[in-house]
Amino acid sequence: MIAMVSSTFQPSPYRPPVRARAYIGSKCNMNAARSTRLGDIVRRVSLCALFIAALPIRAAAQQDVATFFGGAATALAAHEMGHVITDVAFGVSPGLEKVSFAGIPFFAITHDPVTPTREFTISSAGFWVQHATDEVLLSRMPNLRDRHAPFLKGMFAFNVLASVGYSFAAFARVGPIERDTRGMAASANVREPIIGALILAPALFDGWRYFDPRAPLPRWGSRASKIAGVLLVIRASRQ
Ligand SMILES: [Zn+2]
Repeated sequence: MIAMVSSTFQPSPYRPPVRARAYIGSKCNMNAARSTRLGDIVRRVSLCALFIAALPIRAAAQQDVATFFGGAATALAAHEMGHVITDVAFGVSPGLEKVSFAGIPFFAITHDPVTPTREFTISSAGFWVQHATDEVLLSRMPNLRDRHAPFLKGMFAFNVLASVGYSFAAFARVGPIERDTRGMAASANVREPIIGALILAPALFDGWRYFDPRAPLPRWGSRASKIAGVLLVIRASRQ
């Protein structure tokens, strides 16, 4: 029941290229906003939880489901912390701002205008956390799929599915102006669908690794695409 966005945008003191200038800024986000909306979401989540609790499944299975979603929530928090940590590392004070997408309210973690290099880093930080987390998981536990590890599987599922969702939003160029992919595209002065491809590739490769841990192609394809995404910061530094 949690949706997400992220990234930033506010007028910036430096002069990016015209195409990028329209959206340079800074923020990141997630979570409910207006109290009435929040109340609706809480009620719906509660009903879902009650429904799940009422299902005639074993208590252990119910606990696994709860642990799985706990892992997903932890991965979400880790994504957001990536933005906050880079904000603080650059000496920028993070703030909160209300945003919405498709009628779903969120809080955006915002910051003051920064250079393209810093903007790209802050906007990318959430994905870098996701990519690093999945890399550690799949490198240390290639057989994750066969293990009884609902918490870790919840983290992995969130990371893959969030990346897929973000990438399709980038392809379609839809979503809140504060979304991460838009901040990355603007600061590096590349088209947003290219950012979408760089976000989607590691997710697809890691999903492949999960089901076929011995295949070398997805393992190295994933690592190469993650590195390529990070190296785009060099392009941002030249804007
Ligand atoms: Zn984000």
